[in-house]
Amino acid sequence: MFLEMKNIRKHYGEGENKIEVLKGIDIEIEKGEVCVLLGPSGSGKSTLLNIIGGIDEADEGYIAIHGDKIEDMSEKQLTQYRRKHLGYVFQMYNLIPNLNIKENVETGAYLSDHPMDTDEILKGLGLYEHRHKLPNQLSGGQQQRTSIGRAIIKNPDLLLCDEPTGALDYNTSREILKLIEQINQTYGNTIIIVTHNDAIKNMADRVITLRDGQVRKNYKNEHKISAN
Ligand code: ADP
Ligand code: ADP
Repeated sequence: MFLEMKNIRKHYGEGENKIEVLKGIDIEIEKGEVCVLLGPSGSGKSTLLNIIGGIDEADEGYIAIHGDKIEDMSEKQLTQYRRKHLGYVFQMYNLIPNLNIKENVETGAYLSDHPMDTDEILKGLGLYEHRHKLPNQLSGGQQQRTSIGRAIIKNPDLLLCDEPTGALDYNTSREILKLIEQINQTYGNTIIIVTHNDAIKNMADRVITLRDGQVRKNYKNEHKISAN
């Protein structure tokens, strides 16, 4: 199994303010799957993604990637894990405003052993002719493409996307989804997309729905429809 989550529990706060955000999550994801994580606001999607990404810690349970438990990793191994295996795409892009598009993409290759060729990535993303511009000179969709470029330049095994189309209009969202699908088909990365946009589940191999910190649905999508 590529990614295994077992009895993940997480709370925030103490006493009267204590809220149980994840109440025992069991999920398995195969290598190369495009997995959509759905659920209403507050159901724990981002928290789970952050635990998978090693930027938040579960109270109980474990997450294993290629059989290696994240919690057993030393600080050094965790850094290696984030650096080599993980790409992160955020809703608000988080680009560096005073670096141009090419430089922003290249920040993702920092300390990577086998970064992909920046110009090839920029061409694949339709950003090559914009490479010398600053982020604020581009549209929202182009900025999100840049942030996807930054996440994939190290060719990560696992691409985590937190509401990647949340700030984009319908047509631009479709473009971004096509791009994510194309990346999956080209490189075979496993992709987890957190969203509350129900339409995105059509393109997924696996659909998981969280509600109140529990898995309410988890099925392999037998009727996958290409975003293209
Ligand atoms: P979702 O991504 O599904 O909207 P989140 O994982 O962001 O859900 O949040 C789940 C719950 O945990 C929410 O009630 C949220 O307010 C709470 N929460 C998230 N992060 C923190 C935090 N750092 N401190 C306290 N509460 C938090
Ligand atoms: P919605 O949330 O929009 O009502 P669902 O998530 O319930 O939609 O289901 C979406 C589609 O996935 C439906 O066509 C349904 O038949 C199918 N589906 C739901 N659960 C499963 C399952 N366990 N295995 C295979 N297909 C499923």
